[in-house]
Amino acid sequence: MRSHLCNRCGSCVGLSEGKVIFEDKTGKYLPKIVAPIDDQLADTLWEACAGKQFDFPKYTEKFYPDRSHFHTFIGPYERIGIGYAADPAVRLGGASGGIISAVLIWLLKNKRIDGAVVLGMSETEPWLTQAFIATTAEEVMQGAQSKYIISSNNDILPQIAAFEGQLAYVGLPGQIQSIRKLQAIGHPSVKNIAYIFGPFYGNTLHFSSVNSFLKTHGVKDYRQITKLYFRHGEWPGNMRVELKSGRVIELKKFHANYLIPFHILRNSLYCTDLTNEFTDISGGDAWAPVYEERGKGFSMVISRSKKGDALLQEMVDDGWLSFDQISEQEAITMHSHGYDFKKRGGFIRIGFRKMLGKSTPDYGYQLKGFAFSRYAMEVVISSLFILMSTPVARWIVEQFPPKFIGGIFERSRTIWKKSTHQIKRKEL
Ligand SMILES: Cc1cc2nc3c(=O)[nH]c(=O)nc-3n(C[C@H](O)[C@H](O)[C@H](O)COP(=O)(O)OP(=O)(O)OC[C@H]3O[C@@H](n4cnc5c(N)ncnc54)[C@H](O)[C@@H]3O)c2cc1C
Repeated sequence: MRSHLCNRCGSCVGLSEGKVIFEDKTGKYLPKIVAPIDDQLADTLWEACAGKQFDFPKYTEKFYPDRSHFHTFIGPYERIGIGYAADPAVRLGGASGGIISAVLIWLLKNKRIDGAVVLGMSETEPWLTQAFIATTAEEVMQGAQSKYIISSNNDILPQIAAFEGQLAYVGLPGQIQSIRKLQAIGHPSVKNIAYIFGPFYGNTLHFSSVNSFLKTHGVKDYRQITKLYFRHGEWPGNMRVELKSGRVIELKKFHANYLIPFHILRNSLYCTDLTNEFTDISGGDAWAPVYEERGKGFSMVISRSKKGDALLQEMVDDGWLSFDQISEQEAITMHSHGYDFKKRGGFIRIGFRKMLGKSTPDYGYQLKGFAFSRYAMEVVISSLFILMSTPVARWIVEQFPPKFIGGIFERSRTIWKKSTHQIKRKEL
C-alpha cells in the first residue's frame, strides 16, 4: 500500500468489509486501513494482492494446463487474429473493434451469463471511474471504451459475490491477476465468475492528467465535468470532456498521449503484462498503418483458454465477429514497441528498483541479459519519466495549448520510435 507496487486493483478494499477504503481518488488513489483488521482477514488480503507477487509460470500451469501455444511475451494462447464486432454501433462504441463489448452482449443474449462486470464512469462524480455489473446490452455499451485514469474494479467484490447468476468479468492485468489468485484459493467472492476478458495494458494515468488537461483549457474546477471519454468517436478516437456549461473539449487520442510521461501511474512501469495474459480472451488495438488508415476500428484478439477459443468461434459462425488469424510473429511485430516497454523495460526498471534497495514485485520469472544499448536506453526513458512527473515540468507543459504539445509529442514519439527501432527489435 505504501510502495509503488500497489496497482489499485481494489481487492483489499472489496474484501475488507469497509476496513480498507480508497482515499483521495483524485489524488494518489491509495488504499488506507481505517479499522482494525484481524489476522485471518489480513492473510486473505495479503494473498489476494497481485501487486507484490504473482507467479506467472505457476498460474499459467494452473489455469491453462492444456494450452496449445505459449510465448513468454504473449502468454498462453489458442489463436491470435485481427477482428471487429459485426454490429457497426458496437464497433463504433468500443475502444478499438468493439470485440470485448460484443462478446459480453453475445453471452448475455445467449443466456450463458446473467451479468458482466465492466467499468463505467461514476454517476455522482462523472470524472471518476466506477465498476458495475451490466445486465443488458445497453449497460454493456455504457461501460465500453478504454478509460485511461485509475480504475479499481475489484472494490465491487461484495456485489460480485452477492450476484445471483453467472458473471463475465472484464479488467486490467493486475485486477485479473488478483481474481485468479482468489480463484486459486477457492475464495467465495469470485465463485460466480465464469468468463474473464480484458484489454491489453500499456499504462494508466493519475487523475492529475484530467486536471492538467482542463487547466490548459482554462477550466479550474474538475467538478464542472458532466461526461469524460478517452476514446470517443471513430477509432482511434478522442479524449473528450463535456462541461456543465455545455462546452465540449476534444483532443485526438494520439495527441492526448502527451499526458502519459507527466502523469503515469508508477506501477504501470513495473507491470510486465502487456496482453492481459490470464483472460479467456484479450483484446488490444491493431496498431498498424494498414488498419489505422482505414479507421472504423480494428482489434487484435487473443483467445487463451479452450473455452475462450470455442466462444470466439461460435461468435464468428453466428456472424457477430470478423476474425482473421495472424501468426505469433506478426502479432509481436505489431506490438513490438509495447513488448519492448513491458517485457524488457519492465524487468530492467524492476532491476533498477532492486539496486536502490526498494521493494520489487515477484512474478516467478525474470527476463534478463539484454544488449547494453537497451539498458542505456532505459536510463534515458526512466530519467525522463522522473523529470516529467515533477510539478515544474507539469506546470511548464500546462502553459501551452494541448493541441500544440500533442502534435510535438506525436512527432517526437515517431522520431524516437524510428531511432530506437533497431535496439527494440534486436532479438525481440
Ligand atoms: C488503461 C488501458 C491501457 C491500454 N493500453 C493499450 C496498449 O498499450 N496497447 C493496446 O494495443 N491496447 C491497449 N489498451 C486496450 C485498448 O484500448 C482497447 O481496450 C482494446 O483494444 C479493446 O477494445 P474493444 O473495442 O474490444 O473494447 P470495448 O468493447 O471498448 O470494451 C472495453 C472493456 O474494457 C473495460 N475497461 C475499459 N477501461 C478499463 C480500465 N481502465 N480498467 C478496467 N476495465 C476497463 C470496459 O469496461 C469494457 O468492458 C489499453 C486499455 C486500457 C483500459
